[in-house]
Amino acid sequence: MCPAQELGPGRFDVVARPGRELAYRPEVGWRVGPDGTAVCVHPYRVGMPPGRYASAGTPVPSTTTWTLPAPTAEALELPEHLDDLEGWLVAVLRTAAPDEIFGAVARAERQAGERFAPGAVVSALRRVLSRELARR
Ligand SMILES: [Zn+2]
Repeated sequence: MCPAQELGPGRFDVVARPGRELAYRPEVGWRVGPDGTAVCVHPYRVGMPPGRYASAGTPVPSTTTWTLPAPTAEALELPEHLDDLEGWLVAVLRTAAPDEIFGAVARAERQAGERFAPGAVVSALRRVLSRELARR
């Protein structure tokens, strides 16, 4: 689960990758930092760059004034968990030029299909594409 599904922007931190210090807490339903702050580990999925918005009061960037930085090499590695698949798809598709998008979708679908069930890959792709193509 991701705190962004229940908490508004500014009420959770965003980090680039899950780390050992960010324990998943089943009783709250998401990861928390050492100080108890809710932490989202999907910057590409929530569309916010990493930042300490809740724990340090970093102002939440307005979506009209920034774009996510180019995906890091880490963000482009196929994730272990299905929960991170949408974020990976967003990162991968964001590196594709507009005229390469269909080839990039086909490659991403093939690659994800080696690890995840085809049905899960297709529904993640549908959700991501409806958002990503609307941004272009
Ligand atoms: Zn998240």
